[in-house]
Amino acid sequence: MLREEDIAIQLRCQQFICKSYMRDLDGEQSVLLFESERETKEVICPHCRGKVYADGYGHVTLKDMPVWYGMAQELTFVCHRFECRQCGKKFTEEVPVQHPGTKVTERAARWIQAMLRFKVSIRSIQSLTGIHWETIRNLHLEIMESTLEEHMAELKADGYRPRLLAVDEFAIHKGHTYATCVMDLETGEVLWVGEGRSKEDFEQFFTETEPAFLSKVMAVAMDMNASYHILVRKHLPHAMIVYDRYHMQAQFGKDVLGVVRLTEARAHKEKADALRESLSQLHGEDRKQAKEEARQERRKYTRVKRARWALLKNHDTLRDSQATNLTEILDAHSDLAICYAMKEEMCGLFNLRDVIVAESAWKKWFAAAKESGIPALVRFAELKEKRIDGLIAHAIYPISTGKLEGFNNKIKVAKRLAYGYRDNHFFFTLVRFLSVPFPNFP
Ligand SMILES: [Zn+2]
Repeated sequence: MLREEDIAIQLRCQQFICKSYMRDLDGEQSVLLFESERETKEVICPHCRGKVYADGYGHVTLKDMPVWYGMAQELTFVCHRFECRQCGKKFTEEVPVQHPGTKVTERAARWIQAMLRFKVSIRSIQSLTGIHWETIRNLHLEIMESTLEEHMAELKADGYRPRLLAVDEFAIHKGHTYATCVMDLETGEVLWVGEGRSKEDFEQFFTETEPAFLSKVMAVAMDMNASYHILVRKHLPHAMIVYDRYHMQAQFGKDVLGVVRLTEARAHKEKADALRESLSQLHGEDRKQAKEEARQERRKYTRVKRARWALLKNHDTLRDSQATNLTEILDAHSDLAICYAMKEEMCGLFNLRDVIVAESAWKKWFAAAKESGIPALVRFAELKEKRIDGLIAHAIYPISTGKLEGFNNKIKVAKRLAYGYRDNHFFFTLVRFLSVPFPNFP
């Protein structure tokens, strides 16, 4: 059996030789001490190639992969310091096993990067290696950035130019701030993520992307509420703007169905309250009847108020009892019934694929909505009609931001992996990285 006490260290690493192996008393850390054996006469100045003389010592401590489980390992290198006889510059001997830009060995860096590829979390790697999570996170960032860069360079060399894009915002930091995300809808890859959701924030995408790369963009799917369309008009004048059907449907649900439903519900409540107030002046049979009516109105109020989900859901997905309940409510409330029918019709308009048919159908829909006389529906139609082109465009390019929203689950994974993710640059790189289907990557 191999026993730790029996191990003798005989390590050499280029000009360094291992002189001692130390372990702290708790057995939590081991340190290997390396000393340089390089002779001054072998060294030349890296600045002017002149001769140098030794000028004391410096030391570099690097975290290494542990040899024993539960015992973090450090390597300390005692290196020469030199001063140039010719140009007078001072420099320290290089440690060849150091991973550039970090305080870890090349070996540890490769192990960590491999563990990250096998989805080991940053927190777990920290407890396995004793290496600070920030160092691990920087190594993670490094592999993601270089992999993404190589991937993009390869795609560009193959003549890749995105054709169908989606732009949308998503909440970060528990909804206090937002980020804007651009996705290629054909590949599903996130091309860009930036902080904020204003017009200025989205302008960054066009500043950071070469115009030639976007020269083949034919259509961009987006939410009607944001000001994204202004920038797409400005920077991609040949691309069509397509308004997202899901945002449109959600808004109809909130601004029309929601408002009308509450208006109808409130009418029942007011009626119930009025009946109840009149009770004191009524007697006998009249009083009994009014009391019963008030009870009925109260019940209708609750029923209409609770119909929210049934109204929003696709009719085909309702259970039989829900469908019957909904039909009864709609039969008794004509405004709600009109708005509900308008919703179903609007959803159907997004299935049209002929642009001429779509144009006349949308125009008819807006005209009917405005003629309804239902204030919430009229207001909705007046606002959205201004953007009719982007609704008709859906017949030519039936795209949506749905794929980007479906990506939200991966964003949740990113939030968990990013370990607190105060660092937006790291988080955004991770979001982009997760959208690319690299084999063997987290
Ligand atoms: Zn020099």
